Amino acid sequence: MNNTNFVSESELSRQRDMALTLAKEIVPRKLTFFVETFGCQMNVRDSETIKGWLSLIGYTQCESKEHADFVLFNTCCVREHAEKRLMGNIGALKELKDANPGLIIAICGCMMQQEGMAKKLLKRFPHVSLIFGTNALHRFPEMLNAVLNGERIAMTDRAGDAIAEGLPKLRDNQRSAFVNIMYGCDNYCSYCIVPYVRGHERSRMPEDIRSEIVSLVETGITEITLLGQNVNSYGNDGSTGMRFAELLRYVSDVPGLKRIRFMSSHPKDLNEDVMQAIATLPNVCHHVHLPVQSGNSEILRRMNRKYTREHYLSIIENLRKLVPDIEFTTDIIVGFPGETEEAFRDTLSLVEEVGFAAAFTFAYSPRQGTVAARMEDQIPEPVKKQRLQALNELQARKTVENNEKYIGHVGEVLVEGYDERGEETLLYGKYQNFKMVYFPGCRELLNRYVTVKVTKSSKNSLLGEMIDA
Ligand code: SF4
Repeated sequence: MNNTNFVSESELSRQRDMALTLAKEIVPRKLTFFVETFGCQMNVRDSETIKGWLSLIGYTQCESKEHADFVLFNTCCVREHAEKRLMGNIGALKELKDANPGLIIAICGCMMQQEGMAKKLLKRFPHVSLIFGTNALHRFPEMLNAVLNGERIAMTDRAGDAIAEGLPKLRDNQRSAFVNIMYGCDNYCSYCIVPYVRGHERSRMPEDIRSEIVSLVETGITEITLLGQNVNSYGNDGSTGMRFAELLRYVSDVPGLKRIRFMSSHPKDLNEDVMQAIATLPNVCHHVHLPVQSGNSEILRRMNRKYTREHYLSIIENLRKLVPDIEFTTDIIVGFPGETEEAFRDTLSLVEEVGFAAAFTFAYSPRQGTVAARMEDQIPEPVKKQRLQALNELQARKTVENNEKYIGHVGEVLVEGYDERGEETLLYGKYQNFKMVYFPGCRELLNRYVTVKVTKSSKNSLLGEMIDA
């Protein structure tokens, strides 16, 4: 069954034509834009599309909102406190608008798809002209046109959750790129708001994904990260004729593509076929970000995660047998409603047992509209704080242990950046299994692959020396 809608080619060309018409007006005015992105990689990728539209329309990117003619916040709604922060950020833009009445202030992202949010913001902030949700990106020229004609626009309906292909993009990164393979989520973890705002799961067609990767590689990109809320369920509805493991095989032979990463994985869908693909395809990286959330099966049941502690540990064990140098990173929530001391100790013991390379840890905070927010046995804040601290201390020790095993390790690193400290330039980049290493070198090596030997490990990082450029 194919339950995916696609935006029609005629609608896309109508939007492109409108962008080119607007460009005739905007280019001579030499206008600039500034985009600030909050939240996950999906938002980073969406911002690239918005920047792509703005560039096509004739705006150029600038470094600060103080100098921009178009300012956009791309928001995230995963955490409750993000809303308060956003309100402060938008309020602060009023001064800029007073100084430059032509300034267009826009807000987009998944927070805008929360019920009533767009209306509330338009009412509270008269200096905001444009609000849109994650499913309206393809209509950006039309929305901007209306704003330039003096309207205030809020476009947050889900428009059938349709996928739009071939939108323009502006990427700041010259070596790595994010490629969406699917949108939305059907999992309804009981603490999470994403399925309510990003809609049901829809997968892109494999040919569209592959041709995007081919064009990225043609521009010099050698590392891609396949993105989705749950990449392992790619094509599960049968709409693409391929599941995730097959997709990995299908894109892995793109000439010149050196590294394929993917995120995020959901343990319930990480099957034997995906494990084999990771083990056998030469350019699929040996790193899996596998959110566990809790080490206690009863809490996992209450979280609606659909796997047990034992199942999670069996994935780790099986993958380690197949791919000995694989590294795992994870997300963990402490203080979920009903989490007893004993249940929390299960999380600690799982972290001890797995030895994650890194863990993103959070104290549970209720998200309005989710099932967990209505659960009765909420955990007091001081207890959550204490547990988070204990978990972080444990993970810090495990990170040190993990780093120590790399001393003497030799491997290829993709140079991502540099720090200049006095006379010395310190480059940094990752091995294919996501471990970051710092080493002396020259900045001309940025975006290149070099061979680095680890000579020292510290609390949070690895230090090394380049043995081949
Ligand atoms: S898998 Fe769960 S945590 Fe991840 S986006 Fe979907 S509902 Fe949220």
